[in-house]
Amino acid sequence: MEKFKLALKKLKAWYFTKILRKTYYRVGSCNMCGRCCEKIYVKHGKHVIDDEDFFNKLKTMHNFYDGLTCIGKDETGLIFRCNHLDQETRKCKIHKKREKICRDYPQEELFSFGGTMGEDCGYKFVPIISFDEVMAKVSKAEPKTFELMEE
Ligand code: SF4
Ligand code: SF4
Repeated sequence: MEKFKLALKKLKAWYFTKILRKTYYRVGSCNMCGRCCEKIYVKHGKHVIDDEDFFNKLKTMHNFYDGLTCIGKDETGLIFRCNHLDQETRKCKIHKKREKICRDYPQEELFSFGGTMGEDCGYKFVPIISFDEVMAKVSKAEPKTFELMEE
């Protein structure tokens, strides 16, 4: 049974890292606190939007953008709050019709531009390959040798 579990774990790790090119598993579930709906960065292409005029032009391109209000800016970019969040109940007013981006949240890509998970978020990310496994691989690798060229 243990061997089967180990093989399954390896297969899962292979699928996530090689096929999906992920480095983390997402575990847990949403407790519907609504916190991620009131501090949102918008990534367009490879960049987080930090210019309100540019964002206003994008609003016509996607329904999700149109539901956002800019509430500030920090070193990462503009910060938005979603207008569909009910401030009293903390629930999404369009939950059944919410965009795919909301259904898929959170994804590990979040980390690639400096985003972080809220401390109370019901989801957590677990590394697929642990630090110990990475270190074990590195220590088994052939040491690199450098040759000094004599003049
Ligand atoms: S549409 Fe709903 S789930 Fe998506 S950000 Fe707005 S409040 Fe949150
Ligand atoms: S912060 Fe996490 S737990 Fe709270 S609503 Fe967003 S995804 Fe759900």
